[in-house]
Amino acid sequence: MTFGVVQRCRSCASNNLAPVLDLGVQPLANAYREPDDVSEEARYPLALLRCRACSLVQLTGTIPPKLMFDTYHYFSSYSSTMVDSMRMLAKRMTAERGLTGDDLVVEIASNDGYLLKHYLELGIPVLGIEPAQNVAAVAQESGVPTLTQYFTRSLGSELAGSGRAASVIHANNVMAHVPEINDFVAGISAALRPDGVAVVETPYVVRLVGDREFDTIYHEHVFYYSLTAVSSLVERHGLTVADVEQIPLHGGSLRLFIQHSTYPSSERVKKLLESERERGVTTDEYYSDFAKRVEELKTEVTDLIRRLRAEGATVAAYGAAAKGTVLLNHFGLDHDTIDFVVDRSVHKQGLVMPGVGIPILAAEELERRRPDYTLLLAWNFADEILEQQQNYRAAGGTFIVPVPTISLR
Ligand code: ZN
Repeated sequence: MTFGVVQRCRSCASNNLAPVLDLGVQPLANAYREPDDVSEEARYPLALLRCRACSLVQLTGTIPPKLMFDTYHYFSSYSSTMVDSMRMLAKRMTAERGLTGDDLVVEIASNDGYLLKHYLELGIPVLGIEPAQNVAAVAQESGVPTLTQYFTRSLGSELAGSGRAASVIHANNVMAHVPEINDFVAGISAALRPDGVAVVETPYVVRLVGDREFDTIYHEHVFYYSLTAVSSLVERHGLTVADVEQIPLHGGSLRLFIQHSTYPSSERVKKLLESERERGVTTDEYYSDFAKRVEELKTEVTDLIRRLRAEGATVAAYGAAAKGTVLLNHFGLDHDTIDFVVDRSVHKQGLVMPGVGIPILAAEELERRRPDYTLLLAWNFADEILEQQQNYRAAGGTFIVPVPTISLR
């Protein structure tokens, strides 16, 4: 396996690159293991740099996507927050764009059909594109037509050439994952009807740095976008960011409305670009104390948990997601400290967390085993999870919410 270290920006090809943060070597965040697997775990460098030319923050190295995505354990439909917000989005886009049975909505990385099924309910034709075979199969079974492929420039052209150009293209949490980002955006440009819109959601680098969301950094996430960086990228392919919203998903994301460059940018786009300039998002200084603030968080959280353990308390964790893997590994919290991790996804239960070997159990085990404290790894769904776990909390259990600042709830 080769780990390719980049010499040039993956977006604009500049070699003027500045270091941002180094998390050392880390296991692949979604590489859950069987408990009896004693084979050596692959670990790869995990570090960020920023291109000084286009300001895109990106990983220093690339793991071949095939190693990470072919059997993907993340099934979107398991989060109720996500299901609700996707239903709203489908309704909204159908109304705003006046979609009918003559339109086509395409979703790139359509997962188990968690978004497209809402369009189907509204009578709008859909096409999913999802490279993970096991996940695509679930979508097909529930009636969402799905191509088991990676989205590329050539697939975008093929769709347009076969009468399947899209009125709306969704790409949720995928722009961050694709190393060949120019090929991907060229594909969107090719597949989008002249009056179409691509709705792209991707985590916002200003929230990553501002809120110390270092655990959203893992090998699958190659890019950490600012509006400045994404504008430069899409303009290269005859597109423009026509509008932008900030949404709470994944710790703070941008929802970008991308259209062909014949369309103007909204005032909101201009204002957010201006605010990024004012914050200094395009300067080295903005990132200079990020690493130090992450280490401070590590010290606070690990000191607290070690003190609780020394006092005889039991500690578990909630949320066997990729960000949990990153946090546990970077903080050095293993099975000696954390008894178990619970997760609602049956696909993860019975496996162990990558790197630290902590067993993953069903969410009900929290109430049954009643650990004194539970480290909330899925802090991005804090409100939803605290609500669901009222019984555990009423029985004396306490959640430790680690990000952006430590709190006991
Ligand atoms: Zn660049």
